[in-house]
Amino acid sequence: MKIGVLALQGAVREHIHHIKLAGHTGIPVKRVEQLADIDGLVLPGGESTTMRRLMDLYGFTEALRQSELPMYGTCAGLILLANDVVGYEQGHLRKIDITVERNSFGRQVDSFEANIDVKGIEDQVDAVFIRAPHIVSVGPGVEVLSSVEDKMVAVKQGKYLGISFHPELTEDYKIMKYFIEEMVTK
Ligand code: GLN
Repeated sequence: MKIGVLALQGAVREHIHHIKLAGHTGIPVKRVEQLADIDGLVLPGGESTTMRRLMDLYGFTEALRQSELPMYGTCAGLILLANDVVGYEQGHLRKIDITVERNSFGRQVDSFEANIDVKGIEDQVDAVFIRAPHIVSVGPGVEVLSSVEDKMVAVKQGKYLGISFHPELTEDYKIMKYFIEEMVTK
């Protein structure tokens, strides 16, 4: 499979590495035309407000709203996929029927690492949280895959997967494999 990683800002290389570990081809996506050549798209972590500005500038916001590609967002990427973001008038791509709140593990240390259970994945996942958002509420079509400290941190709706942490900063590529096998090739 050819899996694109939106390469406007954020942790692009790390996701490309995970796609390779999962046995597939990772492609940095910088132009809208490249969307026609891929089977799925990863929206990386970074800064969602910056990414949104660049997505508007390069025509991705509209193209991705209309796109039927399976998508997997981590951290800022989860924020981009959410229907609603606390404190904002409207969500960005509005692919998953959830409301997210940004920087919501902030009262702890700014970032932390934990081994967590994720539904559908056999072993625990090595998860790094960096100024992570959490999912405040989910609509009826959304399946919650993981929670940490009573906060929802991973969800799936149809061919869209959103998680609030960064597995790509570790060597643990189980979630990438899950995305490709469950949402791209199925
Ligand atoms: N705090 C960032 C945001 O709101 C997300 C952080 C991350 O992607 N690690 O976009």
